[in-house]
Amino acid sequence: MSAADAVTDALRELRAEFIGVREGQLADYIPKLTLADPDAFGLALVSMDGHRYSMGEAEIPFTLQSISKPFVYALALSVLGLDEVGRWVSAEPSGEAFNAISLEPVTGRPANAMVNAGAIVTTALIPDTPDEPAFDRILHCLGSFAGRRLDVDEEVYASEAATGDRNRALAYLIRSAGTLPVDPVAAVETYFRQCAVRATAVDLATMAATLAHGGVNPLTGDTVVSAEVAAQVLAVMATCGMYDASGDWLLRVGLPAKSGVSGGLIAAGPARFGLATYSPPLDASGTSVRGHAALGALSRRLGLHLMNNPALPGSTVTLATTADDLPSAPADDRERALRERVGVVAAQGALDFTAAERVLYALDESGPERTGSVVLDLREVTTIDSVALAMLHTGLSRLAGDGWRAAVVDPADRLGPPDLVRERTGQDLPRYASREQAVQYCAHALPGAG
Ligand code: GLU
Repeated sequence: MSAADAVTDALRELRAEFIGVREGQLADYIPKLTLADPDAFGLALVSMDGHRYSMGEAEIPFTLQSISKPFVYALALSVLGLDEVGRWVSAEPSGEAFNAISLEPVTGRPANAMVNAGAIVTTALIPDTPDEPAFDRILHCLGSFAGRRLDVDEEVYASEAATGDRNRALAYLIRSAGTLPVDPVAAVETYFRQCAVRATAVDLATMAATLAHGGVNPLTGDTVVSAEVAAQVLAVMATCGMYDASGDWLLRVGLPAKSGVSGGLIAAGPARFGLATYSPPLDASGTSVRGHAALGALSRRLGLHLMNNPALPGSTVTLATTADDLPSAPADDRERALRERVGVVAAQGALDFTAAERVLYALDESGPERTGSVVLDLREVTTIDSVALAMLHTGLSRLAGDGWRAAVVDPADRLGPPDLVRERTGQDLPRYASREQAVQYCAHALPGAG
């Protein structure tokens, strides 16, 4: 027993709650999929630190089917870039079923890379290299997302190849519209093979976690795709991943997701986790019934909806006051009067755009306008990203430009090396290891301080 078993307990509870759901049908248009166990129900979660949690049938391999689509889209975006991929496949929700025979009216492009038409094109865009045929590249890429080598379920592949005429028809239609860059037969064969790649719910949660983690696999540490590509794929999953149920899913569950007709379902919480479920019975839009119910409940209970990000006031700026209010302030009247004119702002944690805005606002509020000088205490700041850093440099240079004094408490050089700070802020910003030293400097550097 350990403290983190609380996460496993949450998965156990979900499984117990929804295992009794009997609705849904096994996909039967690929005959081999009817052999799946309708009672199997596995759940898995992988955190950004690579911690794995699972419950139930989370180690049973099953075929990815459409869950392969976002990952092959990621590969196409990595190889060709968004503009080139966008010439061949659009990124609009289709509002139609996964296997709809439909293309965009004027351009002839498939609506998006999550429906079959778009996925066939995406797969066709992956070129062979001298060392690796296209399918091997795809298999290799899917394995990098999962953190282990994956293989093909040859029986499921053969079963879909024997019955997949609708997808062949789609490929010919796309070819006739001029938006399939290769032979339709070859494109569909590669697509069928990618759909028949086998993985477990734990693998799928790792794949989703890799997208959520900016393209870096949290288990292996490998950069599988760039952060930019990971964000692009999550965006298309959010708007199109659940086919004609995508809008309702985004509304109610609020997570980028992708379903597959073999019963897998993945969802990604950007910068938070990857989730996967496996339960073969499907609803009318081809999504696992239990998976949908379980992920929906989890999102509501744990407040995972993407649009539900209440700002945490006070979590960045921990102090905004004047130096006479600090416990270290001396009783001496003259000293106190000087310290009244020194604003003090302390921040903590990781600073991004939102956090930097809070810090700059606090500097204005408690600082120079009223006091003449300000101390910015960054000792509890853990990281400053490049956007926040540029904002802080600009903010500090504006203060200097307005004639105000500023000093920072920054023993770890979070603002960057002195040369960079001088270049960006146009001044030799006084930096101190302790807050009291910075306050002393500001109090005595004030005009009239003597
Ligand atoms: N291989 C399946 C097909 O093309 C995938 C569909 C899905 O999983 O939604 O029909």
